[in-house]
Amino acid sequence: MISDEIVQLFKDALSDDDRAVTDAVDLAPKLTDWRGRIRGASRLMLQPASAASLAAIVKLAGETRTPLVPQGGNTGLVGGGIPEADGRAVLVSLERMNRIRSIDPAGNTATVEAGVILQALHEAAAAEDRMFPLSLGAKGSATIGGLISTNAGGTQVLRYGTMRAQVLGLEAVLPDGDILNQLTPLRKDNTGYDIKQLLIGAEGTLGFVTAASLRLLPAPREIATALVGLKSPAAALPLMSRLRQATGDQLDSFELMPRDAITLVLRHVDGTRDPLQEAQPWYVLVETTSSVAGTQLRETLESALAEELEKGGIQDAAIAQSEGQREEFWHLRESIAEAEKADGLSLKHDVSVSVTDMPAFMAKATKRIEARWPGARILAFGHLGDGNIHFNVRSDERLPRDRLMELKDEVAAFTYDEVASFGGSISAEHGIGTLKAGELLRLGDPGKLAAMRAVKAALDPHGIMNPGKIFAA
Ligand SMILES: Cc1cc2nc3c(=O)[nH]c(=O)nc-3n(C[C@H](O)[C@H](O)[C@H](O)COP(=O)(O)OP(=O)(O)OC[C@H]3O[C@@H](n4cnc5c(N)ncnc54)[C@H](O)[C@@H]3O)c2cc1C
Repeated sequence: MISDEIVQLFKDALSDDDRAVTDAVDLAPKLTDWRGRIRGASRLMLQPASAASLAAIVKLAGETRTPLVPQGGNTGLVGGGIPEADGRAVLVSLERMNRIRSIDPAGNTATVEAGVILQALHEAAAAEDRMFPLSLGAKGSATIGGLISTNAGGTQVLRYGTMRAQVLGLEAVLPDGDILNQLTPLRKDNTGYDIKQLLIGAEGTLGFVTAASLRLLPAPREIATALVGLKSPAAALPLMSRLRQATGDQLDSFELMPRDAITLVLRHVDGTRDPLQEAQPWYVLVETTSSVAGTQLRETLESALAEELEKGGIQDAAIAQSEGQREEFWHLRESIAEAEKADGLSLKHDVSVSVTDMPAFMAKATKRIEARWPGARILAFGHLGDGNIHFNVRSDERLPRDRLMELKDEVAAFTYDEVASFGGSISAEHGIGTLKAGELLRLGDPGKLAAMRAVKAALDPHGIMNPGKIFAA
């Protein structure tokens, strides 16, 4: 545990606008992850109000060799923002650095601090007739700093890319306490190494993101959203090609959901209802948008789906007739994680393979896991358009919860071996944190891992930034 002396030194380093939290009750929710599975320890959480204050904290941490753990909205799913259980680290929350510094509608950029919540950015952009093209189920709590540090994906990657594609400039405090001032919204800047790219997806192991300049787009004028019933994931791929072609490649989202996911949401989430007349084995939520009015996107979607229905490519479809119905469809999709949590244990595996291989991967891995552990049940859903599925393992009465929990590492290794056999990735969008560090060491490319260690050692020679994350000991 951190000594009283260290706690006092950090408190003394703060300015009047910063905060220090030492009360165990206030600290408790910050020391447990969103699913309540990973618990860490720390006596001290600091909440700096500016990059300058944070820089002073980091300098002191270097001098006293005190580990620091950055935290944003604490919605991460791999334990990256939770301090290790030895209690040696100081937790640093960026939530007080939450100003939207500026929105530039002409340049289509927003400059925001790390603690700004994604939903607040959506609202601020909409007020200027712009949109920020990244969204996800945790948008009410996830922060820009966390989203950048995990290179988050979400439901619009198909058209607009991950967080990396949205970042134009970055301000950060590096592990030696220096401030990286690359906050310029320049779209072109070839002046040597692009250091900000290293911080994107670094999960807080190379410094603190304190602010970012982000790209915005014109707000959509037309949105067409449909929920489609399908026989199988294999049937989804020709549908996706057809819709990309029909909409002039304006397909924002293509989200796959099995019937089991809909059933869970209907059971656990208030205000939800079955979206189609009859239950379907699989569903995709499809959305296409245009920033130009009068492009008749809805009619285009409707006629493409009608053709597919006639050909037998799909089983049924409903097009949202109002913004309210569109929100209902999205509420179903975005509530799956919450419904899974309410229903009991689920071992999560956020994986990617090529879009083309996804149906074969899903079929093979499901069959092998369900045969290997009778009672194991796969719930696979997510961003099919990106080749990214949350391949989660639950269980029925034949495999009790405690037994499934005991098997979690074995099930994960088995799943990731299947992923590796398809040339895929063991972490598509959630990152590595502590949960996947061992598997990254086992399955990661040795050349890449060696280069990552060299970068880490060069920028953070004392290992103060988020120890135990990404790199297994
Ligand atoms: C219901 C639900 C749905 C989700 N859906 C998606 C999804 O579709 N796509 C997706 O990609 N993720 C998804 N996630 C995961 C999560 O929302 C993202 O990983 C998000 O980016 C985390 O943001 P946060 O502010 O909560 O970060 P935290 O959880 O606080 O931290 C995440 C990591 O970033 C580091 N970090 C945080 N802030 C900073 C900073 N300012 N500087 C340096 N490091 C920092 C932390 O140390 C940690 O390693 C979902 C999570 C939930 C609960």
